[in-house]
This record gives sequence, C-alpha cells and structure tokens, in this order.
Amino acid sequence: MSRLIRTRVGTVIGTLAIGGAAVGVYTSLRRNIARFDSPIPSKAVFSGAAFTYLPLESSDQVNHNTKKLRFRLPDSESISGTALTLNTDKITTASLLTFSWPKGQYFPVLRPYTPISNPTNSSSQIDEPGFIELLVKKYPGGRSSTHLHAMEPGQSLLFVAAIKGPQWTPNKVGHVVLIAGGAGITPCYQLARGILDNPGDNTAVTLIYGVNGDEDFLLQREIEQWEQKFPSRFKAIVTVSKPDDGSTLKRGYVDGTLLKEALPDIGSKDSEVYVCGPPPMETNLVGSRSKMGVLEELGYRKDQIHKF
Ligand SMILES: Cc1cc2nc3c(=O)[nH]c(=O)nc-3n(C[C@H](O)[C@H](O)[C@H](O)COP(=O)(O)OP(=O)(O)OC[C@H]3O[C@@H](n4cnc5c(N)ncnc54)[C@H](O)[C@@H]3O)c2cc1C
Repeated sequence: MSRLIRTRVGTVIGTLAIGGAAVGVYTSLRRNIARFDSPIPSKAVFSGAAFTYLPLESSDQVNHNTKKLRFRLPDSESISGTALTLNTDKITTASLLTFSWPKGQYFPVLRPYTPISNPTNSSSQIDEPGFIELLVKKYPGGRSSTHLHAMEPGQSLLFVAAIKGPQWTPNKVGHVVLIAGGAGITPCYQLARGILDNPGDNTAVTLIYGVNGDEDFLLQREIEQWEQKFPSRFKAIVTVSKPDDGSTLKRGYVDGTLLKEALPDIGSKDSEVYVCGPPPMETNLVGSRSKMGVLEELGYRKDQIHKF
C-alpha cells in the first residue's frame, strides 16, 4: 500500500514538475513563439504553442555523429506550419523547442532543433504533410543530443513550440550571405530554401560552410543540387579544417581571409549576413561586448549581421 502511495506521489510530483516547467517555458517564450499569418492551413501543428508528443518514425545515421530523425505528425494531413515559403511577404525562420528528460539526469532539458523536412512539391508552398525531420549532431556528454540519438522508433518526444528566428523579406537586399559551422547548417539551409524556393524572390545566396572533416559536410546532396539548379544565384564554399587525404574540398577555417576571397562584394550595403555555428566561431565573426567581430571589421554594419 505504502509503495503504491509512494508511486502515486512520485507520479504526481513528476507531472507537476513537467507541468510547471512547461508553463514556465511557455510564459517566458511567449513573445518568441512563432505565429504565422494566413494562409497557413488549419492542420499546422506549430502555428502557436504546441506541447505535442510526436512519435519517432525512423532514425538514420548520417555520419559518425549525426542522425536524421523523422517524427510523425498527428495525422497524415498535418504539416509542421514552419515552411518558409508559406508566407511570401515575409519569411520567418523557426526552430522547434524540444523538451526531454534524459536518463540519469535530475533535470529535463529544453533544446531547439531546426526542421529540415522537404516539401513534397515546393511550388505547392506547403511543407511535407505527416512528418517533420531533424538533423541532430551528438556532442560528447551532450544531454539532449545523446537522448535523441538513443531514441528508438515508436518512442515519443515532446515538442513545446516553434521559436521564431530572424525574419526575411524577399528581395530586401540583392545578396544574402549564410555562414554555417557544423550542425549550424540547419537554420542556414532552412533560410536558403525559403529564398531559393520562392519564385518571387531574386536574391543571390552565398553559403560559406565550415566543417571539421569531409564526412561532416551535412546536406551535401541538397547543397550540390542547388548549385546545379541555381548556377547564377547560389554559390557554396565549403571549407574543412582537417580534410581527408585526397579531399576535393577547400582546406581551412571560416576566417577573414576566406571571407574576402569568397565574397567579391564584401561589406556591400546591398547584402545581409546570417551566422550559425559553434559559439567560438560565432563570437569571432559576430563579436562580443568587448570585441568587434570579423564581419564588422570587413565593413558590414551591425544591423546587416544576424544570428539564428
Ligand atoms: C536556433 C537553434 C537551432 C538549432 N538547431 C539545431 C539542429 O538543427 N541540429 C543540431 O544538432 N543542433 C541544433 N542546435 C543546437 C542544439 O539546440 C543543442 O544545443 C545541441 O544539440 C547540444 O545540446 P546537448 O544538450 O546535447 O548538449 P549540452 O549538454 O548542452 O552540452 C554538452 C557539451 O556539448 C558541447 N556543445 C553543446 N552545444 C554545442 C554547439 N552548438 N557547438 C559545439 N559544441 C557544443 C559543449 O562542449 C558542451 O559542453 C540549435 C541551436 C539553436 C540555438
């Protein structure tokens, strides 16, 4: 009997903890929760706060430390509602805030991940019905990423809400520079797709992507397809810090020298720069309170530089 009571008390405390955390998270993030204007179909799961458990459909190893996780939406007609092509007046990038309680941890973890699911037909301007896909890199000792990598198909993950990232107005400037490091490619990929898939947007896009090894070049097939499909509008420069023997990729880090070489219009007022990567890379490029970043040194104004 006392064991039963203890179990129930445990369950109640657990439920209250999750509920309390969820309410706290909702309250503190309310202003950032993405709300997309019409014409979003009513089946959009992330058009406001979601608090939805989604079952894992499949988990595929992409390279030595990254998996593609495919989650099933509540029904086959549901869409995530985060597809950037939905609203052609203004594009809102978005990540999905996940809540998990990794095994052996005292506290749950909240971490954003950027959906990369492909629309079945980009001209239809809706994202893939029925599913969302995340590309998740596992960090040594990483609480959330280790938990997500250990998930088996059929297990569920709690998605709290879509969190608004930078907004993009089509044709606002002539050239967008996306600078990504490692798993930071996912928000850059999402924004590039929103620009390139929008027939009303003529903006040129340059992607500068720094990775550790050749194997870490994520979304390679998709990026190479863009180079073929948009030869005069899209350019990718991928640089590897520790290339394989015989690597065909550029060698080195994303630094001022590489940026000057890659961007003939560097510092142009008709451009915007978006950065997503490991904290040291972002600090070096974007700067900190005490130090000016490389991008400003190269002539970009602060309001031209954005972080996801
Ligand atoms: C807007 C946004 C979108 C994101 N989208 C994605 C995505 O699509 N895919 C994805 O894999 N991740 C993405 N991230 C990062 C993700 O949210 C987590 O930060 C990441 O999975 C690590 O969490 P963790 O709990 O596993 O690691 P933690 O337990 O928080 O950290 C453990 C250790 O891992 C290392 N570490 C943690 N984060 C990073 C990092 N970003 N770079 C380098 N080392 C790190 C550090 O050494 C740290 O000490 C995104 C982050 C943001 C802010």
